[in-house]
Amino acid sequence: MNIEKIKEVLEEHQGFRLKQAEKNIYLDLIDDWQQSTVLPSNIKEELNKECPISIEADLFSSKNKKTVKAVINLEDGLKIEAVLMKNRDGRNTICVSSQVGCSLGCKFCATGKMGFKRNLTFSEIVEQVIFFARLLKKEDEKITNIVFMGMGEPFLNYDNVLKAIRKLNDKDGFNLGSRNFSISTAGVVEGIKKLSSEKLQVNLALSLHAPNNTIRSEIMPINKRYPLDNVLKAVDDYIEKTGRRVMFEYIMIKGVNDSNKEAEEIAKIVKGKLYFVNLIPYNSTGVFEASSQERTASFRKILEERGVSVTQRFSFGKDIEGACGQLANKNK
Ligand code: SAH
Ligand code: SF4
Repeated sequence: MNIEKIKEVLEEHQGFRLKQAEKNIYLDLIDDWQQSTVLPSNIKEELNKECPISIEADLFSSKNKKTVKAVINLEDGLKIEAVLMKNRDGRNTICVSSQVGCSLGCKFCATGKMGFKRNLTFSEIVEQVIFFARLLKKEDEKITNIVFMGMGEPFLNYDNVLKAIRKLNDKDGFNLGSRNFSISTAGVVEGIKKLSSEKLQVNLALSLHAPNNTIRSEIMPINKRYPLDNVLKAVDDYIEKTGRRVMFEYIMIKGVNDSNKEAEEIAKIVKGKLYFVNLIPYNSTGVFEASSQERTASFRKILEERGVSVTQRFSFGKDIEGACGQLANKNK
């Protein structure tokens, strides 16, 4: 599916045709132009020939059926992965990719290991969402949340990510509320700054993963370019400007960042600020080991005793390599 191409084709026609076609895509969620009840047959034929809207993907479903991973084939033969997580509380969260691969090379992340291929276009980002929206529609369900926590660093593809969010937020189309979007960054300061001045109330998450520069630089090379103090300053400015809480993601890695000392350090950073900490189980990617449940519980206790709000992330879809940090197109 190439949304830009649809625009090009319909430029030759009356203005309202594009509006109708977009409504067909974002609201009616059709997957073949013939299903359109508003477009005349000559335009449907032209669209089906020039820009078909089927989406080519392979699906992998976890044993408990709560996680579905789509490996989507792009026009140039590259592949990206997007994941649907069905929560017990009725939320259907889609984890989308912003790039093919990633240039930042975090040591714990499978996407980082595959290196950077290219940025995704606006259309390729939106396509991941539409794919799952169509799938859920068959079960009379809807997407409730979209998180940019798939492959790639969203702030290194800022314009296309924001364009996709704006489009999916559009009242006349997909109409998902801005508060239901989250962007996770490894700490690209320019992106955090830019997002602060957007008139768009999306959620920001920072991959913190370490309380100091020594540990952080060791596992996240980007910390050398944007040291912790600079990142935290940008996050504080963001909070001041937007009044919105920021989530700190923290992967629990055995013997690397999970001691009581590190918990104390995190508590000092977070205390009195509009941050909350989300503890994430480390999903194996071949290096490191996950912290034990006991270790994670002690870590959490220290944070809570010092007044830090803590949540714990449930790990979805490990059996289909669809969990955080496992997306790397291995199952071709
Ligand atoms: N590039 C962005 C967003 C994509 S990664 C970022 O790094 O924030 C989404 C989240 O998954 C990040 O918090 C990332 O640190 C985390 N993650 C990466 N590898 C992981 C792994 N092996 N286990 C658990 N979480 C992981
Ligand atoms: Fe890139 Fe995020 Fe993976 Fe780091 S964790 S390599 S920034 S996708």
